[in-house]
Amino acid sequence: MHIAVIGAGLSGLLAARNLQRAGHDVVVLDKGSGVGGRMATRRIGDAVADHGAQFFTVRSDAFAAEVNDWVSHGVAREWCRGFADVDGHLRYTGVNGMTSIAKHLAGGVDVRLSVTVSTVNFNENNCKWTITSRLRDSSIDEHVADAIIVTAPLPQTIALLGAVADDLPRDLHDIDYDPTLCLLVTLKQQVFVSASGALQSPDDFFSFVCDNMRKEISVTPSMTFHVEPGNSAKHYDQSVAELLALMLEHTTAYFPIDDMIEAHVKKWRYATPQNTFNAPCWSHPHLPLVLAGDAFDGPRIEGAALSGLAAASVFS
Ligand SMILES: Cc1cc2nc3c(=O)[nH]c(=O)nc-3n(C[C@H](O)[C@H](O)[C@H](O)COP(=O)(O)OP(=O)(O)OC[C@H]3O[C@@H](n4cnc5c(N)ncnc54)[C@H](O)[C@@H]3O)c2cc1C
Repeated sequence: MHIAVIGAGLSGLLAARNLQRAGHDVVVLDKGSGVGGRMATRRIGDAVADHGAQFFTVRSDAFAAEVNDWVSHGVAREWCRGFADVDGHLRYTGVNGMTSIAKHLAGGVDVRLSVTVSTVNFNENNCKWTITSRLRDSSIDEHVADAIIVTAPLPQTIALLGAVADDLPRDLHDIDYDPTLCLLVTLKQQVFVSASGALQSPDDFFSFVCDNMRKEISVTPSMTFHVEPGNSAKHYDQSVAELLALMLEHTTAYFPIDDMIEAHVKKWRYATPQNTFNAPCWSHPHLPLVLAGDAFDGPRIEGAALSGLAAASVFS
């Protein structure tokens, strides 16, 4: 089959890799300029910072097998066993940032970037999907596929499915996501955060603070700050300038403002599903359509991975 996977995040890339291994002809379409989705790494000059997911844990054998493969290929590594306190649970991260893993998985897969899918339509006559996309230069592109797997966050998935979205279970329409506001800064000198380099929920405003040098992904000082969900939602619609001022009010405990070189704000509207569907993916009862992503098998990296694997197995 010719299968189109929408989304080059972890879920989509693992689905595509396994479908290709099973002998299908696969194309992955993503609106972003790089692979990884919410596993996002950004370069600012010589500095490197993860601005989406920071780390992951392993709870299942199926995911452990994937992670072992990533470690053996040198794209993932153990980071620590706790941030402020050692609690014994291993945290992994990407070797050069979280996108190392996505780049590895995308190798050998036909991934088309800067392709924003706007509609998908199933033609009952030839039993094929027509996928209409907008490219970076605003031109319109069309792909024809026998089957599609959509791994975008659910509100985005529902928007592009059109009338087919009416066939989704109510539970999928009801899944909402917490936003996350993120601040990246480059600094003149490194500051001490903790032995691991990071702190989880260090105060009432931030949910995660990380020194990317101690995390060993940046050769020059850079820090990542994630605002906790309540404050992210409260301030989400403010302008970038207002958000920058607000976030910098809260960073004084972490670095002297005179040491700051650059600061960048990133807004994640669909950062974390508030609840998840009760199956690892969803298959349309009549059409060759599967939905997957972290809203299905747990609101984290592992859930996204397992959901992508489950989606591929529908066609394998
Ligand atoms: C700030 C933040 C911090 C996080 N921290 C952690 C953490 O520390 N540990 C952890 O385990 N998890 C964490 N997560 C969650 C984790 O990142 C996600 O669970 C996981 O990456 C989701 O993968 P996915 O493939 O399901 O979705 P995504 O990575 O979101 O992939 C979906 C892809 O679909 C693409 N897309 C959407 N719409 C379209 C369209 N119309 N056309 C084409 N492409 C489209 C997007 O560009 C995206 O690349 C964090 C998330 C955020 C945002």
